[in-house]
Amino acid sequence: MAAAEGATKLERGKAWLRDFLARWTGTRTFIITSAVVFLALVLLDGLHVIAALVSFAVVAGVAATRLMAVGETTPIRIGRDEEGGLSVLGAGGTALALLNRLPDPLIVLDVSGRVVFANGASEPLIGKETAGRHVATVLRSAPLIGAIDGVTSDGQVRSIEYSVPAPVQRNYSVYVAPVADEVASAQKFILVLLRDVTEARRVEAMRADFVAFASHELKTPLSSISGFIDTLRGHAKDDPEARDKFLAIMADQATRMRRLIEDLLSLSRIELREHVRPSDAVDLHGVADDIADGLSPLAEQYGVEIGVTAPASLPKVLGDREELAQIVQNLMDNALRYGRSGKRIEVSLSPAEKGGKPFVRLAVRDFGPGIAKEHIPRLTERFYRVDASASRARGGTGLGLAIVKHIVNRHQGTLSIESELGQGSSFSVLLPVAPSAALQK
Ligand code: ADP
Repeated sequence: MAAAEGATKLERGKAWLRDFLARWTGTRTFIITSAVVFLALVLLDGLHVIAALVSFAVVAGVAATRLMAVGETTPIRIGRDEEGGLSVLGAGGTALALLNRLPDPLIVLDVSGRVVFANGASEPLIGKETAGRHVATVLRSAPLIGAIDGVTSDGQVRSIEYSVPAPVQRNYSVYVAPVADEVASAQKFILVLLRDVTEARRVEAMRADFVAFASHELKTPLSSISGFIDTLRGHAKDDPEARDKFLAIMADQATRMRRLIEDLLSLSRIELREHVRPSDAVDLHGVADDIADGLSPLAEQYGVEIGVTAPASLPKVLGDREELAQIVQNLMDNALRYGRSGKRIEVSLSPAEKGGKPFVRLAVRDFGPGIAKEHIPRLTERFYRVDASASRARGGTGLGLAIVKHIVNRHQGTLSIESELGQGSSFSVLLPVAPSAALQK
Protein backbone atom coordinates (compact mmCIF):
# COMPACT_ATOMS: atom_id res chain seq x y z
CA MET A 1 0.00 0.00 0.00
CA ALA A 2 2.76 2.39 1.11
CA ALA A 3 4.83 1.28 -1.89
CA ALA A 4 1.87 1.95 -4.20
CA GLU A 5 1.37 5.42 -2.63
CA GLY A 6 5.10 6.15 -3.07
CA ALA A 7 4.91 5.15 -6.72
CA THR A 8 1.90 7.43 -7.29
CA LYS A 9 3.77 10.34 -5.62
CA LEU A 10 6.76 9.64 -7.83
CA GLU A 11 4.54 9.56 -10.92
CA ARG A 12 2.90 12.85 -9.88
CA GLY A 13 6.31 14.41 -9.27
CA LYS A 14 7.53 13.27 -12.70
CA ALA A 15 4.38 14.59 -14.34
CA TRP A 16 4.80 17.96 -12.57
CA LEU A 17 8.44 18.17 -13.71
CA ARG A 18 7.48 17.25 -17.29
CA ASP A 19 4.73 19.80 -17.19
CA PHE A 20 7.01 22.45 -15.68
CA LEU A 21 9.67 21.83 -18.35
CA ALA A 22 7.09 21.94 -21.10
CA ARG A 23 5.66 25.14 -19.71
CA TRP A 24 9.15 26.61 -19.27
CA THR A 25 10.09 26.01 -22.92
CA GLY A 26 6.66 27.18 -24.03
CA THR A 27 6.92 30.30 -21.91
CA ARG A 28 10.39 30.95 -23.27
CA THR A 29 9.05 30.73 -26.83
CA PHE A 30 6.24 33.07 -25.94
CA ILE A 31 8.58 35.59 -24.30
CA ILE A 32 10.99 35.46 -27.28
CA THR A 33 8.09 35.90 -29.72
CA SER A 34 6.75 38.84 -27.70
CA ALA A 35 10.25 40.38 -27.63
CA VAL A 36 10.43 40.06 -31.45
CA VAL A 37 6.96 41.63 -31.84
CA PHE A 38 7.75 44.55 -29.52
CA LEU A 39 11.16 45.04 -31.14
CA ALA A 40 9.46 45.09 -34.54
CA LEU A 41 6.96 47.67 -33.29
CA VAL A 42 9.80 49.85 -31.97
CA LEU A 43 11.77 49.47 -35.24
CA LEU A 44 8.70 50.41 -37.27
CA ASP A 45 8.10 53.45 -35.03
CA GLY A 46 4.82 51.95 -33.88
CA LEU A 47 5.71 52.04 -30.20
CA HIS A 48 7.97 54.18 -28.07
CA VAL A 49 10.91 52.22 -26.70
CA ILE A 50 9.84 52.87 -23.06
CA ALA A 51 6.24 51.79 -23.82
CA ALA A 52 7.62 48.67 -25.52
CA LEU A 53 9.83 47.84 -22.52
CA VAL A 54 6.95 48.33 -20.06
CA SER A 55 4.54 46.28 -22.24
CA PHE A 56 7.15 43.57 -22.63
CA ALA A 57 7.76 43.51 -18.85
CA VAL A 58 3.99 43.08 -18.29
CA VAL A 59 3.77 40.31 -20.90
CA ALA A 60 6.84 38.53 -19.48
CA GLY A 61 5.39 38.90 -15.96
CA VAL A 62 2.07 37.36 -17.02
CA ALA A 63 3.92 34.51 -18.73
CA ALA A 64 6.08 33.90 -15.64
CA THR A 65 2.97 33.88 -13.42
CA ARG A 66 1.40 31.28 -15.66
CA LEU A 67 4.60 29.27 -15.52
CA MET A 68 4.45 29.14 -11.75
CA ALA A 69 0.70 28.44 -11.61
CA VAL A 70 0.08 25.03 -10.08
CA GLY A 71 -2.10 22.74 -12.14
CA GLU A 72 -1.61 24.79 -15.30
CA THR A 73 -0.77 22.33 -17.98
CA THR A 74 -0.94 24.21 -21.29
CA PRO A 75 2.29 25.98 -22.24
CA ILE A 76 2.07 29.30 -24.01
CA ARG A 77 3.34 28.64 -27.48
CA ILE A 78 2.75 29.13 -31.14
CA GLY A 79 2.08 25.82 -32.83
CA ARG A 80 -0.42 23.42 -34.30
CA ASP A 81 -3.17 21.79 -32.27
CA GLU A 82 -3.33 18.07 -31.46
CA GLU A 83 -5.38 17.28 -34.53
CA GLY A 84 -2.63 18.76 -36.63
CA GLY A 85 -4.86 21.70 -37.45
CA LEU A 86 -3.54 25.16 -37.85
CA SER A 87 -4.39 28.38 -36.01
CA VAL A 88 -3.25 27.45 -32.52
CA LEU A 89 -1.68 29.97 -30.24
CA GLY A 90 -0.89 28.39 -26.91
CA ALA A 91 -2.21 28.97 -23.45
CA GLY A 92 -5.74 29.66 -24.43
CA GLY A 93 -6.92 33.21 -24.13
CA THR A 94 -3.97 35.25 -22.92
CA ALA A 95 -1.61 35.04 -25.89
CA LEU A 96 -4.42 35.04 -28.42
CA ALA A 97 -6.18 38.03 -26.87
CA LEU A 98 -2.89 39.88 -26.64
CA LEU A 99 -2.00 39.43 -30.31
CA ASN A 100 -5.59 40.06 -31.38
CA ARG A 101 -5.47 43.37 -29.54
CA LEU A 102 -2.44 44.66 -31.49
CA PRO A 103 -3.53 47.61 -33.62
CA ASP A 104 -1.45 46.44 -36.60
CA PRO A 105 -1.97 43.39 -38.79
CA LEU A 106 0.12 40.42 -37.61
CA ILE A 107 0.24 37.15 -39.52
CA VAL A 108 2.11 33.99 -38.55
CA LEU A 109 2.97 31.54 -41.33
CA ASP A 110 4.47 28.09 -41.27
CA VAL A 111 7.53 27.37 -43.39
CA SER A 112 5.37 26.21 -46.29
CA GLY A 113 3.83 29.71 -46.37
CA ARG A 114 0.43 28.70 -44.93
CA VAL A 115 -1.32 30.98 -42.47
CA VAL A 116 -1.10 29.63 -38.91
CA PHE A 117 -2.52 32.69 -37.24
CA ALA A 118 -3.81 36.09 -38.34
CA ASN A 119 -4.86 38.65 -35.72
CA GLY A 120 -8.03 40.77 -35.78
CA ALA A 121 -6.32 43.82 -37.33
CA SER A 122 -5.30 41.76 -40.39
CA GLU A 123 -8.92 40.90 -41.28
CA PRO A 124 -9.66 44.06 -43.32
CA LEU A 125 -6.51 43.32 -45.30
CA ILE A 126 -6.66 39.57 -45.88
CA GLY A 127 -10.23 38.64 -44.95
CA LYS A 128 -11.65 36.20 -42.41
CA GLU A 129 -10.84 32.52 -41.84
CA THR A 130 -7.53 32.53 -43.60
CA ALA A 131 -5.93 29.85 -41.40
CA GLY A 132 -4.52 27.09 -43.59
CA ARG A 133 -4.52 29.18 -46.76
CA HIS A 134 -1.28 29.93 -48.57
CA VAL A 135 -0.07 33.48 -48.02
CA ALA A 136 0.11 34.09 -51.80
CA THR A 137 -3.68 33.68 -51.99
CA VAL A 138 -4.37 36.26 -49.26
CA LEU A 139 -1.63 38.86 -49.84
CA ARG A 140 -1.19 39.28 -53.56
CA SER A 141 2.14 41.07 -53.72
CA ALA A 142 5.13 39.62 -55.52
CA PRO A 143 7.73 41.61 -53.48
CA LEU A 144 6.09 40.56 -50.21
CA ILE A 145 5.90 36.89 -51.19
CA GLY A 146 9.54 37.22 -52.32
CA ALA A 147 10.51 38.60 -48.91
CA ILE A 148 8.69 35.75 -47.13
CA ASP A 149 10.43 33.19 -49.38
CA GLY A 150 13.74 34.89 -48.65
CA VAL A 151 13.21 34.71 -44.88
CA THR A 152 12.21 31.04 -45.18
CA SER A 153 15.37 30.17 -47.07
CA ASP A 154 18.06 32.21 -45.30
CA GLY A 155 16.43 33.09 -41.95
CA GLN A 156 17.37 36.77 -42.33
CA VAL A 157 14.90 39.45 -41.18
CA ARG A 158 13.50 41.68 -43.96
CA SER A 159 11.64 45.03 -44.04
CA ILE A 160 9.80 46.08 -47.19
CA GLU A 161 7.05 48.47 -48.31
CA TYR A 162 3.77 47.00 -49.50
CA SER A 163 0.91 48.96 -51.04
CA VAL A 164 -2.69 47.93 -51.60
CA PRO A 165 -4.07 49.85 -54.59
CA ALA A 166 -7.81 49.33 -54.05
CA PRO A 167 -10.35 50.50 -52.97
CA VAL A 168 -8.26 53.37 -51.57
CA GLN A 169 -4.47 53.12 -51.86
CA ARG A 170 -2.88 52.14 -48.54
CA ASN A 171 0.84 51.76 -47.85
CA TYR A 172 2.28 49.34 -45.34
CA SER A 173 5.74 48.92 -43.95
CA VAL A 174 6.19 45.17 -43.53
CA TYR A 175 8.54 43.40 -41.15
CA VAL A 176 9.16 39.71 -41.92
CA ALA A 177 11.11 37.62 -39.39
CA PRO A 178 11.71 33.94 -38.64
CA VAL A 179 10.50 32.59 -35.27
CA ALA A 180 11.52 29.20 -33.90
CA ASP A 181 9.16 27.16 -31.71
CA GLU A 182 11.36 25.81 -28.97
CA VAL A 183 8.88 23.19 -27.76
CA ALA A 184 8.88 21.46 -31.10
CA SER A 185 12.28 22.59 -32.26
CA ALA A 186 11.67 21.34 -35.79
CA GLN A 187 8.77 23.79 -36.12
CA LYS A 188 9.65 27.17 -37.53
CA PHE A 189 7.33 30.06 -38.24
CA ILE A 190 7.46 33.30 -40.17
CA LEU A 191 6.19 36.44 -38.50
CA VAL A 192 4.70 39.06 -40.85
CA LEU A 193 3.98 42.35 -39.12
CA LEU A 194 2.43 45.14 -41.17
CA ARG A 195 2.25 48.78 -40.20
CA ASP A 196 -0.04 51.23 -41.99
CA VAL A 197 2.15 54.14 -43.14
CA THR A 198 -0.37 55.65 -45.60
CA GLU A 199 -0.80 58.86 -43.61
CA ALA A 200 2.95 59.30 -43.11
CA ARG A 201 3.58 58.81 -46.86
CA ARG A 202 0.76 61.25 -47.74
CA VAL A 203 2.25 63.92 -45.45
CA GLU A 204 5.73 63.31 -46.93
CA ALA A 205 4.35 63.70 -50.48
CA MET A 206 2.48 66.86 -49.47
CA ARG A 207 5.61 68.37 -47.93
CA ALA A 208 7.63 67.57 -51.07
CA ASP A 209 4.91 69.13 -53.29
CA PHE A 210 4.73 72.15 -51.02
CA VAL A 211 8.48 72.77 -51.17
CA ALA A 212 8.44 72.31 -54.97
CA PHE A 213 5.53 74.77 -55.38
CA ALA A 214 7.02 77.32 -52.98
CA SER A 215 10.43 77.23 -54.69
CA HIS A 216 8.79 77.55 -58.10
CA GLU A 217 6.74 80.55 -56.93
CA LEU A 218 9.87 82.24 -55.58
CA LYS A 219 12.07 81.31 -58.53
CA THR A 220 9.90 83.06 -61.12
CA PRO A 221 10.10 86.61 -59.67
CA LEU A 222 13.72 86.04 -58.69
CA SER A 223 14.79 85.16 -62.24
CA SER A 224 12.81 88.12 -63.54
CA ILE A 225 14.69 90.44 -61.13
CA SER A 226 18.07 88.89 -62.08
CA GLY A 227 17.23 89.29 -65.77
CA PHE A 228 16.46 92.99 -65.33
CA ILE A 229 19.64 93.55 -63.31
CA ASP A 230 21.63 92.14 -66.26
CA THR A 231 19.70 94.35 -68.69
CA LEU A 232 20.28 97.44 -66.55
CA ARG A 233 23.99 96.65 -66.37
CA GLY A 234 24.11 96.03 -70.09
CA HIS A 235 22.34 97.69 -72.96
CA ALA A 236 19.82 99.69 -70.84
CA LYS A 237 22.62 101.26 -68.79
CA ASP A 238 22.31 104.67 -70.38
CA ASP A 239 18.59 104.59 -71.12
CA PRO A 240 16.79 106.42 -68.27
CA GLU A 241 13.34 105.63 -69.66
CA ALA A 242 13.97 101.88 -69.85
CA ARG A 243 15.67 101.97 -66.45
CA ASP A 244 12.57 103.50 -64.76
CA LYS A 245 10.32 100.96 -66.46
CA PHE A 246 12.50 98.00 -65.45
CA LEU A 247 12.93 99.27 -61.89
CA ALA A 248 9.14 99.48 -61.55
CA ILE A 249 8.79 95.86 -62.73
CA MET A 250 11.57 94.78 -60.35
CA ALA A 251 9.82 96.52 -57.45
CA ASP A 252 6.59 94.63 -58.36
CA GLN A 253 8.41 91.30 -58.42
CA ALA A 254 10.10 92.06 -55.09
CA THR A 255 6.68 92.84 -53.59
CA ARG A 256 5.38 89.53 -54.92
CA MET A 257 8.26 87.68 -53.28
CA ARG A 258 7.74 89.52 -50.01
CA ARG A 259 4.01 88.67 -50.02
CA LEU A 260 4.75 85.03 -50.69
CA ILE A 261 7.34 84.84 -47.89
CA GLU A 262 4.93 86.57 -45.50
CA ASP A 263 2.18 84.09 -46.39
CA LEU A 264 4.53 81.11 -46.02
CA LEU A 265 5.69 82.32 -42.61
CA SER A 266 2.13 83.01 -41.58
CA LEU A 267 1.05 79.51 -42.61
CA SER A 268 3.87 77.84 -40.70
CA ARG A 269 3.17 79.98 -37.58
CA ILE A 270 -0.51 78.98 -37.70
CA GLU A 271 0.39 75.31 -38.22
CA LEU A 272 2.67 75.42 -35.17
CA ARG A 273 -0.14 76.80 -33.03
CA GLU A 274 -2.91 74.72 -34.57
CA HIS A 275 -3.26 72.50 -31.47
CA VAL A 276 -3.30 75.38 -29.00
CA ARG A 277 -6.84 76.65 -28.49
CA PRO A 278 -7.16 80.47 -28.58
CA SER A 279 -8.67 81.97 -25.43
CA ASP A 280 -9.58 85.63 -26.04
CA ALA A 281 -13.09 87.01 -26.45
CA VAL A 282 -13.03 88.91 -29.76
CA ASP A 283 -15.51 91.44 -31.14
CA LEU A 284 -15.70 90.15 -34.71
CA HIS A 285 -17.93 93.04 -35.79
CA GLY A 286 -15.23 95.52 -34.76
CA VAL A 287 -12.61 93.47 -36.64
CA ALA A 288 -14.74 93.43 -39.83
CA ASP A 289 -15.32 97.20 -39.61
CA ASP A 290 -11.58 97.87 -39.21
CA ILE A 291 -10.67 95.70 -42.22
CA ALA A 292 -13.41 97.27 -44.36
CA ASP A 293 -12.04 100.73 -43.44
CA GLY A 294 -8.52 99.65 -44.36
CA LEU A 295 -9.70 98.35 -47.75
CA SER A 296 -11.86 101.37 -48.57
CA PRO A 297 -9.23 103.23 -50.68
CA LEU A 298 -8.79 100.13 -52.88
CA ALA A 299 -12.56 99.56 -52.99
CA GLU A 300 -13.05 103.15 -54.07
CA GLN A 301 -10.43 102.74 -56.77
CA TYR A 302 -12.30 99.66 -58.09
CA GLY A 303 -15.70 101.33 -57.69
CA VAL A 304 -16.84 98.66 -55.20
CA GLU A 305 -19.06 99.29 -52.21
CA ILE A 306 -18.42 97.30 -49.05
CA GLY A 307 -21.28 96.93 -46.55
CA VAL A 308 -20.83 95.38 -43.07
CA THR A 309 -23.99 94.38 -41.17
CA ALA A 310 -24.41 92.82 -37.71
CA PRO A 311 -27.07 92.80 -34.98
CA ALA A 312 -26.26 94.99 -31.95
CA SER A 313 -26.40 91.96 -29.62
CA LEU A 314 -23.79 89.91 -31.54
CA PRO A 315 -21.79 87.90 -28.96
CA LYS A 316 -17.99 87.91 -28.94
CA VAL A 317 -16.20 84.90 -30.38
CA LEU A 318 -13.55 82.74 -28.77
CA GLY A 319 -10.39 83.43 -30.71
CA ASP A 320 -7.14 85.13 -31.48
CA ARG A 321 -7.84 88.68 -32.71
CA GLU A 322 -4.90 88.83 -35.09
CA GLU A 323 -5.76 85.51 -36.74
CA LEU A 324 -9.47 86.37 -37.01
CA ALA A 325 -8.47 89.65 -38.66
CA GLN A 326 -6.44 87.59 -41.13
CA ILE A 327 -9.54 85.52 -42.04
CA VAL A 328 -11.64 88.64 -42.66
CA GLN A 329 -8.79 90.35 -44.53
CA ASN A 330 -8.17 87.40 -46.87
CA LEU A 331 -11.87 86.84 -47.64
CA MET A 332 -12.59 90.54 -48.24
CA ASP A 333 -9.39 90.91 -50.24
CA ASN A 334 -10.43 88.01 -52.51
CA ALA A 335 -13.96 89.39 -52.89
CA LEU A 336 -12.45 92.69 -53.95
CA ARG A 337 -9.80 91.25 -56.28
CA TYR A 338 -11.85 88.51 -57.96
CA GLY A 339 -15.40 89.81 -57.54
CA ARG A 340 -14.93 93.52 -58.17
CA SER A 341 -16.99 93.38 -61.37
CA GLY A 342 -20.02 92.83 -59.08
CA LYS A 343 -19.46 96.33 -57.63
CA ARG A 344 -20.75 95.26 -54.22
CA ILE A 345 -19.44 93.21 -51.28
CA GLU A 346 -21.72 92.26 -48.40
CA VAL A 347 -20.12 91.25 -45.12
CA SER A 348 -22.69 89.96 -42.63
CA LEU A 349 -22.29 88.74 -39.06
CA SER A 350 -25.06 86.83 -37.34
CA PRO A 351 -25.63 84.48 -34.40
CA ALA A 352 -25.77 80.81 -35.36
CA GLU A 353 -25.85 77.35 -33.79
CA LYS A 354 -24.03 74.10 -34.45
CA GLY A 355 -24.44 70.88 -32.50
CA GLY A 356 -26.49 72.75 -29.87
CA LYS A 357 -23.63 75.22 -29.26
CA PRO A 358 -23.68 78.97 -29.98
CA PHE A 359 -21.60 80.21 -32.92
CA VAL A 360 -21.19 83.43 -34.90
CA ARG A 361 -21.45 83.29 -38.68
CA LEU A 362 -19.29 85.59 -40.78
CA ALA A 363 -20.28 85.65 -44.46
CA VAL A 364 -18.41 87.53 -47.18
CA ARG A 365 -20.45 87.70 -50.36
CA ASP A 366 -19.46 89.15 -53.70
CA PHE A 367 -21.39 89.45 -56.96
CA GLY A 368 -18.50 88.77 -59.32
CA PRO A 369 -17.97 85.99 -61.88
CA GLY A 370 -18.29 83.14 -59.34
CA ILE A 371 -16.34 79.86 -59.24
CA ALA A 372 -17.10 76.67 -61.21
CA LYS A 373 -18.28 73.79 -58.96
CA GLU A 374 -15.34 71.47 -59.68
CA HIS A 375 -12.86 73.98 -58.20
CA ILE A 376 -14.70 74.62 -54.93
CA PRO A 377 -13.49 71.55 -52.94
CA ARG A 378 -9.85 72.32 -53.83
CA LEU A 379 -9.75 76.08 -53.18
CA THR A 380 -8.24 75.68 -49.70
CA GLU A 381 -5.32 73.57 -50.95
CA ARG A 382 -2.00 75.37 -50.89
CA PHE A 383 -1.20 77.04 -54.23
CA TYR A 384 -4.48 75.91 -55.80
CA ARG A 385 -5.83 78.61 -58.10
CA VAL A 386 -8.67 78.58 -60.59
CA ASP A 387 -6.60 80.72 -62.95
CA ALA A 388 -2.94 81.00 -61.91
CA SER A 389 -2.08 83.97 -64.12
CA ALA A 390 -5.20 85.90 -63.05
CA SER A 391 -4.26 85.24 -59.41
CA ARG A 392 -0.66 86.41 -59.94
CA ALA A 393 -1.83 89.48 -61.87
CA ARG A 394 -3.96 90.38 -58.83
CA GLY A 395 -1.04 89.88 -56.44
CA GLY A 396 -2.29 86.48 -55.23
CA THR A 397 0.01 83.89 -53.69
CA GLY A 398 -2.40 80.92 -53.80
CA LEU A 399 -2.13 80.62 -50.00
CA GLY A 400 -4.89 82.96 -48.77
CA LEU A 401 -7.65 80.36 -48.40
CA ALA A 402 -5.23 77.71 -47.04
CA ILE A 403 -4.38 80.20 -44.28
CA VAL A 404 -8.11 80.83 -43.67
CA LYS A 405 -8.78 77.09 -43.40
CA HIS A 406 -5.95 76.52 -40.88
CA ILE A 407 -7.07 79.45 -38.71
CA VAL A 408 -10.66 78.19 -38.80
CA ASN A 409 -9.45 74.71 -37.77
CA ARG A 410 -7.47 76.15 -34.87
CA HIS A 411 -10.64 77.94 -33.74
CA GLN A 412 -12.69 74.73 -34.08
CA GLY A 413 -14.91 76.48 -36.59
CA THR A 414 -16.05 75.61 -40.10
CA LEU A 415 -15.57 77.18 -43.52
CA SER A 416 -18.09 76.74 -46.32
CA ILE A 417 -17.98 78.06 -49.87
CA GLU A 418 -20.99 78.57 -52.12
CA SER A 419 -20.76 79.94 -55.60
CA GLU A 420 -22.60 80.08 -58.87
CA LEU A 421 -21.04 81.10 -62.16
CA GLY A 422 -22.14 84.58 -63.13
CA GLN A 423 -23.80 85.17 -59.73
CA GLY A 424 -20.85 85.58 -57.36
CA SER A 425 -19.49 83.71 -54.35
CA SER A 426 -20.15 83.50 -50.64
CA PHE A 427 -17.53 82.38 -48.10
CA SER A 428 -19.00 81.63 -44.64
CA VAL A 429 -17.10 80.95 -41.46
CA LEU A 430 -18.66 79.66 -38.25
CA LEU A 431 -16.74 80.52 -35.07
CA PRO A 432 -17.58 79.47 -31.50
CA VAL A 433 -18.94 82.07 -29.13
CA ALA A 434 -16.64 82.98 -26.20
CA PRO A 435 -17.90 81.28 -22.97
CA SER A 436 -18.32 84.55 -21.01
CA ALA A 437 -20.21 86.05 -23.98
CA ALA A 438 -22.50 83.01 -24.07
CA LEU A 439 -23.28 83.51 -20.36
CA GLN A 440 -24.03 87.20 -20.81
CA LYS A 441 -26.60 86.44 -23.47
P1 ADP B 1 -4.85 83.69 -54.23
O1 ADP B 1 -3.67 84.28 -53.56
O2 ADP B 1 -4.58 83.11 -55.56
O3 ADP B 1 -6.03 84.62 -54.21
P2 ADP B 1 -6.45 82.11 -52.41
O4 ADP B 1 -6.11 80.89 -51.66
O5 ADP B 1 -6.91 83.30 -51.65
O6 ADP B 1 -5.20 82.43 -53.31
O7 ADP B 1 -7.58 81.74 -53.46
C1 ADP B 1 -7.43 80.61 -54.27
C2 ADP B 1 -8.16 80.78 -55.58
O8 ADP B 1 -9.58 80.81 -55.33
C3 ADP B 1 -7.89 82.10 -56.28
O9 ADP B 1 -6.73 81.99 -57.08
C4 ADP B 1 -9.13 82.28 -57.10
O10 ADP B 1 -9.01 81.56 -58.30
C5 ADP B 1 -10.23 81.64 -56.27
N1 ADP B 1 -11.05 82.62 -55.50
C6 ADP B 1 -10.90 82.95 -54.20
N2 ADP B 1 -11.83 83.85 -53.82
C7 ADP B 1 -12.61 84.08 -54.91
C8 ADP B 1 -13.76 84.90 -55.17
N3 ADP B 1 -14.31 85.66 -54.24
N4 ADP B 1 -14.29 84.85 -56.42
C9 ADP B 1 -13.75 84.08 -57.38
N5 ADP B 1 -12.68 83.29 -57.20
C10 ADP B 1 -12.11 83.28 -55.99
